[in-house]
Amino acid sequence: MRVPLIAGNWKMNTTVSEAVALVRAMRDGLGEIGGVEKVLCPPFVSLAAVAEIVKGSSVKLGAQNLFYEERGAYTGEISPPMLAELCEFVIIGHSERRNYFNENGEIVNNKVIAALKAGLKPILCIGEKLEENEAGKTEEVITGQMESSLAGIAELDGLVIAYEPVWAIGTGRAATGKQSNETISVIRRNIFRLYEAKIAQDMRILYGGSVTAANATEFMQQPEIDGALVGGASLKADEFLDIVKQTSAIKGLPRT
Ligand code: PEP
Repeated sequence: MRVPLIAGNWKMNTTVSEAVALVRAMRDGLGEIGGVEKVLCPPFVSLAAVAEIVKGSSVKLGAQNLFYEERGAYTGEISPPMLAELCEFVIIGHSERRNYFNENGEIVNNKVIAALKAGLKPILCIGEKLEENEAGKTEEVITGQMESSLAGIAELDGLVIAYEPVWAIGTGRAATGKQSNETISVIRRNIFRLYEAKIAQDMRILYGGSVTAANATEFMQQPEIDGALVGGASLKADEFLDIVKQTSAIKGLPRT
């Protein structure tokens, strides 16, 4: 059985004090919800403060990015070992990084390798753009992204994939549950082809793109969807709690 996972990507929102207030507003409520892994991804500068607040609770942390070198003259960058002291997960290959910061398949691949080496669990984001979707190229695009991101990686230890159609991110235009379930089946089949049946069966694959409290149930009812990567709605404590509660009610496993 795959443990469902809901991750909140706060993106470039919240100052340190705002992040502290937001996590305080969620921590106890999240702690009470069983059967779902809960991950918050605040900005780098708030990770340490948020880590203090969630210490001892069931809430886990993730970073939103990392650089692939361990240390050195890379002004402004954050390395995997730096993050490994603060969090368990790291988002890699988010479409905003691919689009605004020119991250290509090779860079994403280097980041996934470096994260796994440091013991971090990557949340690897893949997804097609609107024009690719409309041209019927979704399968080809996500397959190419998977092959480049995972090139040369033998062990996927804890890696999670987030299928995020680019046209659905931050637009309020979510994919349908059925559409995303179908694409996620393709992703799982790719894992089977690139690795083996057990790895494909155990791999957690999330949907991301305009998930809200109003549509979370539609996504969580899909058999192939193991949770969500939530952007905008993760900045509202009540709405994020509601999404996690719906996930627990539909997919929650005992004693998670
Ligand atoms: C995201 O940031 O990964 C995301 C899915 O954003 P939103 O939920 O706002 O579309």
